[in-house]
Amino acid sequence: MAGIPGLEVAHVAGTGPEKVAPLVALRPWEKCGDCPYLPVCVGGCLGGKYLKTGRMDEVACKKEKYELSFRETIVRRYLAEFPVTEVSSPATAAA
Ligand code: SF4
Repeated sequence: MAGIPGLEVAHVAGTGPEKVAPLVALRPWEKCGDCPYLPVCVGGCLGGKYLKTGRMDEVACKKEKYELSFRETIVRRYLAEFPVTEVSSPATAAA
């Protein structure tokens, strides 16, 4: 996280190796269990959570927003892009 002492991974003018980002070192997303959103979320915005709470071991969970988004917004966008069309069956096509 840029600009916060102790959270840096390297110095832009330095030649030393990068270190593991402190905000991911504790792997807080491991608390997420079998959450279906884990592949796209990975614990949410860990930097934002740290700035609000000072904690590096907590996720910034927005599961309710994901559920709403996946249930409504993504379905709406999908249907807008790929509208439902009539599919003729062989029986109606022959008639
Ligand atoms: S939605 Fe919540 S529980 Fe699911 S991966 Fe994100 S932070 Fe973890």
